Amino acid sequence: RSWAESVIPKQILGVIDQIGYKEPSPIQRQAIPIGLQNRDIIGIAETGSGKTAAFVIPMLTFISNMPPFTEENRHLGPYGLVLAPTRELAQQIESEARKFATPLGFRCVSIVGGRAVEEQQFNLREGAEIIIATPGRLKDVLERHVLVLSQCRYVVMDEADRMVHLGFEADLTFILDKLPSETMEGEDQSEQMDVDGETMVKKGRTRVTTLFSATMPPPVERLARKYLKRPAVITI
Ligand code: AMP
Repeated sequence: RSWAESVIPKQILGVIDQIGYKEPSPIQRQAIPIGLQNRDIIGIAETGSGKTAAFVIPMLTFISNMPPFTEENRHLGPYGLVLAPTRELAQQIESEARKFATPLGFRCVSIVGGRAVEEQQFNLREGAEIIIATPGRLKDVLERHVLVLSQCRYVVMDEADRMVHLGFEADLTFILDKLPSETMEGEDQSEQMDVDGETMVKKGRTRVTTLFSATMPPPVERLARKYLKRPAVITI
């Protein structure tokens, strides 16, 4: 099955074609159509499965539907946030995400340890639609008020089991509690049935949260229960 069969916007299909990904990987085939419906996802998958593109494509689609970044709104922080356990993984995600984001005119910045805070402050002042961060450094940056997340509405926790294994559960909770809440006041919260008969919120959905993990130990279950809403579970 090909890319064109899913409901990916034309502009993004063009980028995929330019990058040269001939067909979607199994996780992309499963996760992208669900992600494009703005549903929360728990993805049980290993690295190397193509999961970066599986969450970046729906995230970029979501961002394409947000008001463009301007002087007025870019200080309110990114639209999308990816949390990853290590600097290496965050930078790998950044480089994969940029393949898609740059041709679409969106910026990606990583906030990781081991790099001058000043340099990152400079990058953040410029504004970025997508931030990729390790939880410890992001918490630090948030506490210094260098960055706010007041318009961040698409969040991905990548390798959540490794993040909790590295002791980041409290930092993740700190970060996720700073995000705009699930629904905004006055918004239509009407529910609709999807094809499988499962109830999901179609309108009024103002935050999408996706979690990828190779395993589901209790702390990851806790995070999923607290921050994800009626997630679709995908196992590769
Ligand atoms: P990831 O699991 O996201 O780290 O991706 C693993 C590798 O697969 C990366 O080098 C990607 O560039 C590559 N990749 C991801 N999706 C595809 C695809 N649909 N076709 C070909 N290569 C891909």
